[in-house]
Amino acid sequence: MAERGSVIVFYDDRVLAHQPDSHGAFLSRRMDKRLREILAGLGVAWKYPEHPGRLTAILELLERSPVPGVRFETGAQATHEQLCRVHTMGYLESLYRLRGQKAWLDVDTTAISPGSIEAAEVAAGTAVAAVETVMSGRAESAFALVRPPGHHAESVRARGFCLFNNVAVAAAHARAALGCSRVMIVDWDAHHGNGTQEIFWADPSVLFFDIHRAAPFFPGSGNLEDVGGGLGEGTTVNVPLPAGAGDTAYIKAFREILVPAAEWFQPDLILVSAGFDPHWNDLALSVSYEGFGAMTGIVQDLARRHCDGRLVFVLEGGYNLTSLSQGVRSVLDVLAGSEPPVPGVTGLKEVDNAIAFHREAFIPPEDNN
Ligand SMILES: [Zn+2]
Repeated sequence: MAERGSVIVFYDDRVLAHQPDSHGAFLSRRMDKRLREILAGLGVAWKYPEHPGRLTAILELLERSPVPGVRFETGAQATHEQLCRVHTMGYLESLYRLRGQKAWLDVDTTAISPGSIEAAEVAAGTAVAAVETVMSGRAESAFALVRPPGHHAESVRARGFCLFNNVAVAAAHARAALGCSRVMIVDWDAHHGNGTQEIFWADPSVLFFDIHRAAPFFPGSGNLEDVGGGLGEGTTVNVPLPAGAGDTAYIKAFREILVPAAEWFQPDLILVSAGFDPHWNDLALSVSYEGFGAMTGIVQDLARRHCDGRLVFVLEGGYNLTSLSQGVRSVLDVLAGSEPPVPGVTGLKEVDNAIAFHREAFIPPEDNN
């Protein structure tokens, strides 16, 4: 069993070679026309929001303000065998043929640059390396800082900045090669993890819990009634939330849905699809840094109760560089042993300060005598 509070962060700079821009050719002519119309209609030069600066911002913060005890290791490149556990051979072949090229794969902003296929293989392989580490007991938890993200990638399709489904590849590896019987995936990214849901829809050995902003927010899936199918009916759990939902809603859902689900499922490994776009800086939802810390505390507690602490975080979205990097740091803080914070109600402390500040201001003059 790993030492309590031991954490390894996995990072591999090959993931920086994924540098898509808006100038690649679209793979289908009909789509190309549609995409050009969308970009022209924006009226401003469109910039690809999922860029290498996301990871360098996280690394810079962790260098400037390290979390005591957290160790760093480099990642690995996923093999064809690892990827084809969750993606079809046909899909993999079609992506492999695009090595060294620049292209748009999907109108929902999924594009590649010459280094993208290798970067995506390294992203998936680094998630696998993180899982191998906690399964071997070298660390209690691990965080794979990777990009492109993965949770929108389906078995046959790239979507929403994602090429390979990193967390799904890692979960399938734990099942096929590392002796895990049941893997739980917690997806707290602001967007629904449609790809992870599709891949494990009928698989009773993977419990997928996803809390996200409800449709029609991208990608438009993840309804409450979507609970899996076939043998996997009951092992998909969706919690769709309205715009602006924050700490209180997230933590209540964790305590009252995720905790009993884990109790029922008895996982032997927990993975987290950790996006930091629920933070209010990204404008879709309203989670705070204390909220991310508190959610980490709940998941860590579940991992300690059911899986000897084995817990792996895999980075998904988060596009505001400040909240992305501070959010990752809030998670690492708790993983490494800090007491999980208790989020307050935003603004209450400031109002209390303001009350004290203005206390004397509006007392009528006669009362002063
Ligand atoms: Zn997202």
